[in-house]
Amino acid sequence: MPYAEVAVDAHIRDGRTFTYSVPAHLTVVPGQMLQVPFGPRMADGVVFQLSPTTKIDPVRPVEAADPLGPLVLPHHLELARWISDYYMAPLYAAAALMLPPGFRSRTVAYLKRPTEEALANLDAAVQAALLSRFAGRRQRAKEDVVRRGLSQDAGRILDRLIRKGAIARSWEWRILKAQQGDGPSVSQLRPKVESSDKSRMLDEVGPARLPEPALIPTARQAQSLAQIAAALDARDHAAFLLQGVTGSGKTEVYLQSLARCVAQGRKGIVLVPEISLTPQMVQRIEARFPGRVAVLHSRLSPAEHRRMWWGLFQGRYDVAIGSRSALFAPVQPLGLIVVDEEHEWTYKQHDSEPRYHARAVALRLAQQTGAVVVLGSATPDVVTYHHALAAQRLRLLELPYRISESGGDGHPLAKVQIVDMRQELKDGNRSVFSRPLQEGLKQTVGKGGQAILFINRRGAAGVVQCRDCGHVLRCRSCDMPLAYHTAPERLLCHQCNRRSKMPADCPNCHSSRIRYLGLGTQKLIGELEALLPGVTTLRWDRDVAEADRASETVLERFARGEAQVLVGTQMVAKGLHVPSVTLVGAVLADIGLHLPDFRSGERVFQLLCQVAGRAGRGADPGTAIVQTYRPDHYAVVLAAQQDYPAFYRQEVAFRRAQRLPPYSRLIRLVFAHTNDGRCQSEAERLGRALRHQRQAWAMTEVDVLGPAPAYPPRLRGRYRWHILLRGPDPRLLLDKVELPEGWLVDVDPASVL
Ligand code: ADP
Ligand code: ZN
Ligand code: ZN
Repeated sequence: MPYAEVAVDAHIRDGRTFTYSVPAHLTVVPGQMLQVPFGPRMADGVVFQLSPTTKIDPVRPVEAADPLGPLVLPHHLELARWISDYYMAPLYAAAALMLPPGFRSRTVAYLKRPTEEALANLDAAVQAALLSRFAGRRQRAKEDVVRRGLSQDAGRILDRLIRKGAIARSWEWRILKAQQGDGPSVSQLRPKVESSDKSRMLDEVGPARLPEPALIPTARQAQSLAQIAAALDARDHAAFLLQGVTGSGKTEVYLQSLARCVAQGRKGIVLVPEISLTPQMVQRIEARFPGRVAVLHSRLSPAEHRRMWWGLFQGRYDVAIGSRSALFAPVQPLGLIVVDEEHEWTYKQHDSEPRYHARAVALRLAQQTGAVVVLGSATPDVVTYHHALAAQRLRLLELPYRISESGGDGHPLAKVQIVDMRQELKDGNRSVFSRPLQEGLKQTVGKGGQAILFINRRGAAGVVQCRDCGHVLRCRSCDMPLAYHTAPERLLCHQCNRRSKMPADCPNCHSSRIRYLGLGTQKLIGELEALLPGVTTLRWDRDVAEADRASETVLERFARGEAQVLVGTQMVAKGLHVPSVTLVGAVLADIGLHLPDFRSGERVFQLLCQVAGRAGRGADPGTAIVQTYRPDHYAVVLAAQQDYPAFYRQEVAFRRAQRLPPYSRLIRLVFAHTNDGRCQSEAERLGRALRHQRQAWAMTEVDVLGPAPAYPPRLRGRYRWHILLRGPDPRLLLDKVELPEGWLVDVDPASVL
């Protein structure tokens, strides 16, 4: 057909395609990559559709077509359309999620070295700077010309000369090859410095090994498995929420469901939060499907990533396991998608377009392909659980007990003790460690056991709390906790922008010990060493993890018994299985509880449940000690009891009263600018426009909150202001305004900070 509808790599907010004519010498099919002219330049594109006619005149021709043929599967094209539309992102950005690694940007601009005359009017220094960039060559890739060290002025002048035609530009298109895949799929996850049994086992990975047999399911597992199997056998879409405490056998249910799906001749995708994607986890899946598992995650080398992707494309694997992006791997025919730890906020892509949520996209993809979805969690997202209880989109499966040593239901959960830090202060204990935690640490270390201390640093977002009564200062208009700012000292509501002064004493009990909450891992280690001279410690927080990219090593060193106490941030709460850990201390459980974000209670509940789940995974029953200034807060109390349904009931009552998800949907709009004044005035302008449209169309069911400074108010040198739209369908209002360049749209934001 002579015309192609193409998604073009350009910043276009809506999901539109552009029409191009197909020259007779090219064959073009949907899903294929193209190079097309776009304005004054060439751009990458993906074909979405072909048509025999067009109303557009004149139509520009396709420049080049990829000799590899279609790379994006038909159902992925449909999925990309949905993502682009729902998350308000460019269609090309959505389609690019499904392209092979390294295929996203193939168009390269070349610049010809300018003649002396072309530069004649310029300052001698700028002339020299520009010419030196060509390093004597007749032409150079533009990215190499502008890379590093070219001053902003020279860069601007260069762009002007290109626009005027004084510097000639040409385009190339990288022709990329498919990578022939081979090699063991798990090798990249193997720790580098180890020669333990585990890494020897990984070396033996290959199709010759026999799959490890499935375990005999417990009665509860059998019930869940039967329902999932029935859905698979019906070859129709169905979605389940598998709720079960840590150690209740969820992974075994995933594995046996995957086996059923594979036996049908279909394939599966398993999503796991990046941080839980440990060698143990991968190995457990690999053991059931030897040589048939592809692993996709951000620590793969580019070559490994290509091998995995093309191996999947060629149908050489039955299971793809990975973080968020594994959802877009070329897996077909697709039978099952597992989303483990479905409540994890890292499933939401928040730092680049499209800002999609992997759980929502998984459900959509499964609907399209007739696949079954199993979402799993000990502490489901309140919104997910709400849908499961309503049994509309999801069916609830429960595994309420930990699997015992003998393989039955009923291994005890760790004992959780809540310590009231206000009482500790009253009794004269000013240490960060309460008396029970001091006692616990001494005993554990004395017995030769191991302990984990955990602080929730993410939450240290400037909340001001009274040390005597636990009172937190809140906004009088929105009841959101106020954030503390220095220089000038003030309190600010990040939802409505209301400002107030820092009070001299607590409005609740008049104590003068009202202050900002915060504590770092380093300081905690200092205090610990003072308490237990000679204690050996390991630290694990974001700084350490970034310095040492192979973050497993800290955990593995701890698991090997190199230190008595592991001190870390929320990262330690996830996925760590060390049977010899018998004590876990949450040093300041409250940090995070008062973040000016409506999900803060839910996050703290989830985190504390996970922390408690770390202790007592071996034969020794464990203890978790939770230190708090708010021993009565429902998130703290119910996490200690590990009572999810009770937590859900409380939380959902709050959400209903505040008209928050699941009782509404949110869209967050963020504007960032280096100039605070301009940032604020643009945010106010859009706020007025939205309110005006709301009035004009009588859309009273949509609330416009803000504008207000985002938290943190300044990020990478740019001030940030935001507006929140809340209602049953806030998109209806957003579609009534023109959104200028520079506004960032986040549909269903994971956080409203
Ligand atoms: P979860 O994924 O809910 O944390 P797992 O599937 O990892 O739980 O199970 C916890 C432990 O119980 C694992 O060591 C696993 O091998 C074991 N287990 C799970 N199901 C069974 C079973 N049916 N019989 C015996 N052991 C089991
Ligand atoms: Zn407010
Ligand atoms: Zn007080």
